[in-house]
Amino acid sequence: MLMSELDGKIWMNGEFCDWKDAKIHILTHTLHYGTGVFEGVRAYKTNSGTAIFRLNDHTDRLFESARLIGMQIPFTKDELKQAQCDSVRINNLNNAYIRPICFYGSEGMGLRADNLKVHCCVAAWDWGTYLGEDKIKNGIKIKVSPFPKRNEMSMLYKAKVTGNYLNSMLALRDALNSGFDEALILDTDNSVNEGSGENFFIIKNNILSTPDLTTVLDGITRKTIISIAKDLGYSTVEKKISLDEVFEADEAFFTGTAAEVTPVIQVDNNNINNGLPGEITKKLQDTYFKLIRGNIKKNDSWLTLVDKNEK
Ligand SMILES: *Cc1c(COP(=O)(O)O)cnc(C)c1O
Repeated sequence: MLMSELDGKIWMNGEFCDWKDAKIHILTHTLHYGTGVFEGVRAYKTNSGTAIFRLNDHTDRLFESARLIGMQIPFTKDELKQAQCDSVRINNLNNAYIRPICFYGSEGMGLRADNLKVHCCVAAWDWGTYLGEDKIKNGIKIKVSPFPKRNEMSMLYKAKVTGNYLNSMLALRDALNSGFDEALILDTDNSVNEGSGENFFIIKNNILSTPDLTTVLDGITRKTIISIAKDLGYSTVEKKISLDEVFEADEAFFTGTAAEVTPVIQVDNNNINNGLPGEITKKLQDTYFKLIRGNIKKNDSWLTLVDKNEK
């Protein structure tokens, strides 16, 4: 099934339209120059109904991404939160992946990017496990990406900006073409950065380490895992990580809204934990799945029930 031919409704600039009619003009600025900001959000079925996970944080980050590229979103945070809840409800989704995107329209060409209208849309659909059920359970093999590398001089990795994903896509395709499941992108100083759309963690002697935020996206799942780890009695160090440390790690995993918590069992030709998901990784993953489904009371404030937000 083509993405453009799913059934349902898409929220465009304040109104819902039919899925198949959610179209834009060929001269849309963002199509040419990568000038959009977006989010990847998930909603899960809980005992009290479908709930969006960390909606406030995702919406805050969307506005922060826009601020970093000088884009003014013509809706309030509350309006965009409502649009995300409505998109899940109107499409009758129990579990959903939600994609808000803000982009410049077709009012003008060129890089001056002035006098352009900012368009905002929200699509939501049922999207299972990003890397597949088998991978999330049994782990993935990742390839250290020879290029492109992340550069400390660019602040833009803090933003979920569409243009950044050309790098990610090239790295991922290189990994897939070599028979791996994901890429591990490096910084220009060869320290470890992140996956194509996931943050990276290693565990050594019961301590978690993850690259500091200098050149990685401030992932919401990353933050969630640091918090879960703390609750389970594990500390996390945020620092530069060398490839040698990765090869010597006891365990490794990726985090992201799409990838959730995915064990890494091989990096290039080196097995991690003898090619099996690690015990601590499994504990963190298990707790994450309980949390997003509303089975951990303490974290209820991270769940927004879509029905409660009914107009
Ligand atoms: C979205 C994204 C992540 C994961 O962030 P979450 O907030 O956990 O979904 C990590 N890295 C990149 C490059 C991303 O785009």
